[in-house]
Amino acid sequence: MGAMKSYTIATLGSHSALQILRGARAEGFATLAICTEASASLYRRYPFVDDVLVLPTYQALVERQGDLAGVNAILVPHGSFVAHLGVERTKQVRIPYFGNKQVLDWETDRHAQRVWLERAGLRMPREMRSAAEIDCPVIVKLHGARGGSGYFFARDAAEFVARTASMAPGSFTVQEALIGAPVYLHYFYSLLEERLEFLGADIRYETNVDSLGRLPSENQIGLPIEPSFVVVGNMPLGVRESTLHKVYHLGESVVAVSRLICPPRGLFGAFCLEGIITPDEQFSVFEISARIVAGTNVALPSSPYADLYYGEPMSTGRRIARELRNAIGAGRLADLVE
Ligand code: AMP
Ligand code: AMP
Repeated sequence: MGAMKSYTIATLGSHSALQILRGARAEGFATLAICTEASASLYRRYPFVDDVLVLPTYQALVERQGDLAGVNAILVPHGSFVAHLGVERTKQVRIPYFGNKQVLDWETDRHAQRVWLERAGLRMPREMRSAAEIDCPVIVKLHGARGGSGYFFARDAAEFVARTASMAPGSFTVQEALIGAPVYLHYFYSLLEERLEFLGADIRYETNVDSLGRLPSENQIGLPIEPSFVVVGNMPLGVRESTLHKVYHLGESVVAVSRLICPPRGLFGAFCLEGIITPDEQFSVFEISARIVAGTNVALPSSPYADLYYGEPMSTGRRIARELRNAIGAGRLADLVE
């Protein structure tokens, strides 16, 4: 354990940083939260955060990488890296980064993501390239929209045409709107063990879409209500046991194809398949997040599924630290970072 103290697990102060740093401490690492002035006081509250580095902005990490020299840092990315730092800046970071940066290009381009997931045999919502192709309700996603803001519904082609008339062509994608139950599946692929672990699932609590059912439709008629998907938080989910073999199969297919498109290592570490289960019990995936998702925060200190593998609490954050610890012990850290 003591040897791990010579390495520092560092991450941006937001999203799932508490879970990542708590897990790092449990595995014997030193911990560092990289914060803005606004977030620093939050991370100073917790005893497992050894140090807080305050930057003027998250983007400044690229210019301030030197500040981390000497602490033997390993950066663990989460959703805020792409959201706040961007892909290009994330790639410019030279501090050892847990994961395969090649995957970023496939993850952040909706078209590339579709190529990847379809090649893995996953069902995805149909995409329409013109109004003429619209034969069902659709969801319109503005490019660059994050966290479900910047999405809207159109019930048919006529409404789609009316609502997109003033929008630049090519500034959005159009997808079949799936009516079913959204589910987020949390995985961890271990390169060291060559094993896919299913660590849990969550559902998101989104405003205002998850509250529309509180008012009868008669009361909603005439109100200027636009469904939105802005995430408020997450709730843990146990999935039907009879579907678990499918859950593993989906994850393993995605990992197998990732080795072909991002050779040789492909996708490893934490990732999440995000989709909707329709009443015919089909799981259609609308997105992959190729690193830890914030929905895993509900599984602190552990989840029912992590408990099936580990005789001790194991969050996704701790699982990442365990993988790094095992790699350091085996002299294989270089295989897991870049
Ligand atoms: P933040 O650092 O909170 O701005 O989040 C970065 C990205 O992760 C945004 O796209 C958020 O919508 C997403 N995100 C943050 N927290 C959660 C959460 N609890 N569940 C799902 N997504 C989240
Ligand atoms: P995302 O930004 O891709 O995480 O999506 C945000 C939310 O939009 C999801 O949690 C779903 O509730 C919803 N959503 C995304 N794609 C679809 C779709 N094709 N059909 C129905 N709802 C969707």
